[in-house]
Formats: sequence, structure tokens, C-alpha cells
Amino acid sequence: MTDPLLIPCPHCGGLNRLPSERLSDHPRCGRCKNEVLPGTPFAVADAGFAAQLKGDLPLLLDVWADWCGPCKAFAPTFEQAAARLNGRCRLAKLDSEANQHLAGRLGIRSIPTLILFKDGREVARQSGAMPLPQLLDWLSRQGV
Ligand SMILES: [Zn+2]
Repeated sequence: MTDPLLIPCPHCGGLNRLPSERLSDHPRCGRCKNEVLPGTPFAVADAGFAAQLKGDLPLLLDVWADWCGPCKAFAPTFEQAAARLNGRCRLAKLDSEANQHLAGRLGIRSIPTLILFKDGREVARQSGAMPLPQLLDWLSRQGV
């Protein structure tokens, strides 16, 4: 038996305790009943971001904006990575225009920017889009 993992709900931020062998069973949040691991990127905002940094899975943040062509071109790659890494890493998107406070606090100077968080702390950062194999390779070098 493995220890259960603590994973925040992408919808309500509630912390769920899930046995690792159940992560692929589409577990639902104990508080709001939405899927905890939908396998798709979810949006984060100024409000509630701290709750998404909690738990045992790393969080990969894609900082983007609506006017940014390379950001939009990268979106399908990020979605594919979310499906591929479901249960191992959580993937979230931050609209830097709508959430300038958080984007400023993260020191975003260009977009797209990818930031990997582990145990609530930034461990790696990459500016610019990457093809999927390069993205997965970058993450595996960070232990994801
Ligand atoms: Zn929830």
C-alpha cells in the first residue's frame, strides 16, 4: 500500500486525500464533486492560486495572454501534455492580462512562460513555447 496523495481540487481548491492507485479512476472532489484530475489544463487566478500550490503533485503553470500568438499556438501542446501527465503533474493556465497582480508577483517578463512548482515553490522556469517531446523531456529532467 502506498500513502495517499493530497491533491487540491482545480474547481474549489479543496484538498482531497486520494490513494495513488485511484488517481486514474476519475476521482471526484469531496467538497464540490467535480473531477479532481480532469486531464485538461485548468485556469488559475489571483484569487485561490495559493490553494493550487498545495498538495503532493507538481504544478506546471502556463502564463499566457489572449493577444499573444505564440501562446495560442502552444495551447494544443499544453493540452496534450495535461492528458499525458494526468495523475503525475497538474497543468494550469494563468491569463496574465486578467491577473496582473499574480503575473507581477511571479515576475513574468515575457509570454508564454512556463513555471514548475513543487511543494509550493518554483523549481524551474522556461520562457517560450516548446514542442511536446521537448516539454516532456524538460519536465522529466525536473523529476516529473
Ligand atoms: Zn472541489
